[in-house]
Amino acid sequence: MTGTIVIAATPTPNGDLHVGHMAGPYLAGDVYARYLRADGRPVTYATCTDDSQSYMISTARTRGTTPAELCATSTARIRRSIEAMGISLAPLPPVDDAYRRTVLDFVTTLYREGRFELRTVRMPYARNAGVHLFDGLVKGECPACLAESCGGSCEGCGHPNHFDDLGDPRSVLDPADPVTSREVTVLVLPAESYREELTAYYAARESTWRQHSRQLIREILARPLPEIPITVPSPGWGIEAPFAETPGQILYPWIEAMPASIHSTWKAAGEPEGPVDLAWRAESGNRLVYFHGFDNVYSWGMLDLVMLLAHGGRYITPDANVCNEFYELENEKFSTSRNHLIRGADLVAEVPRDLVRFYLALTSPEDQRANFTREGLDRVTTRRLRGPWNELADRVEAAVAQPGEELKVTDDGRRRAAVIVERFRLCYDLTSFSLTRAAEGIVTQLGRLLTAERAEIGDLLLEVRTLLACAAPILIDVAAEAEAAGVELTLGTGAETIDAFLLPRLPEDVR
Ligand SMILES: [Zn+2]
Repeated sequence: MTGTIVIAATPTPNGDLHVGHMAGPYLAGDVYARYLRADGRPVTYATCTDDSQSYMISTARTRGTTPAELCATSTARIRRSIEAMGISLAPLPPVDDAYRRTVLDFVTTLYREGRFELRTVRMPYARNAGVHLFDGLVKGECPACLAESCGGSCEGCGHPNHFDDLGDPRSVLDPADPVTSREVTVLVLPAESYREELTAYYAARESTWRQHSRQLIREILARPLPEIPITVPSPGWGIEAPFAETPGQILYPWIEAMPASIHSTWKAAGEPEGPVDLAWRAESGNRLVYFHGFDNVYSWGMLDLVMLLAHGGRYITPDANVCNEFYELENEKFSTSRNHLIRGADLVAEVPRDLVRFYLALTSPEDQRANFTREGLDRVTTRRLRGPWNELADRVEAAVAQPGEELKVTDDGRRRAAVIVERFRLCYDLTSFSLTRAAEGIVTQLGRLLTAERAEIGDLLLEVRTLLACAAPILIDVAAEAEAAGVELTLGTGAETIDAFLLPRLPEDVR
């Protein structure tokens, strides 16, 4: 069946997912997937842990553990956090032999087709450790913005850096270890060879990129495009590269993202017979949408796109990359190493989940940095959501004589309900996707419905039920409670009558 494949950025299992991650891609992807399902459109929402990343080595070193142990404990925590926040992702697939087969098939196909080129490059090299440095193993001066940056891409400006692009490189594993530069021969995929296709691709999807990401893509296109590493010297972690020309090297971790997503899509579908990548083939007719942070615009928006394009029309490409900015905690960056963070699972143990999801949606870092405060969460959700919502529930209860009773709906009621649906569709459709505006829409409609005078109770109930259906991708528990009581949450508004119902209340405390 043709549908939409929604992929959230693959989390690196070097720690739990905190509220900053949730407010970024995971909640946004969840709301989008729930909206599509409510609209009767088939959707697969999947991701996969990003086990091969070099950050596994640096974090494990700091914590005094091994990458494998760190991976196992963090993956279990990430699974729990996703579940606790009600993120409707398919279960995280294990990174096992089947996963590695999918990655190797994807990459060796390109190798056989002659897409890769051998390059002798210079890379930073930690002399005492005897390790070539890249990505999370190295820090230095970003060539594009001069800020301190890790290898791969800069968290601040988003520009890529590979090989010896960083100025004054230092080893993250041991800053005292002298870093020199060494020649090494690796396989690369020159992005420049795909410039024409890339330019046409971005031009066709301009309207779906948020402004900051669109600007970064333009900046990258204005320079010579990077040579994407396919292999790098092994730091002792990652998938061994199976190529004769590059002995002792691993696959560059970022190139696993596409086969990882193909693999997790296949697992989410229940491992159907036939080729693993069938759902991603161009002839499937499926749509593809990514949710990720601004810091992944280069990797997900260009590097991995080139990996798909290099397969020569075999695969679908994303309709949109929905990118978020950073989310801060009390006006400082979330930081696992400084323990400056709040985990989603801890928060929903104290505050009803719908209130947390509403607040994260309302303050979602869509176009610029946004800030989480616990005081803000309590104040805003009490005054703007729970108070008016429960008042509306009282109003409905006072108006409804008999739940289940069939009530008349007028043209005017249907017109208003259609307007509500239209407003929310604007928030959930890709060209104008905005969790913030959807959350604001809930507040606006609540305020209006508290005092709206309606001659027909059926009209009021249709508007309330439509609001509940439109809010359901965010307020998942109250929506589930209504559905369990027999309320049909539909985005259609054409009925002549409506069955009277009671609006479930938002809880004061965690149930
Ligand atoms: Zn930079």
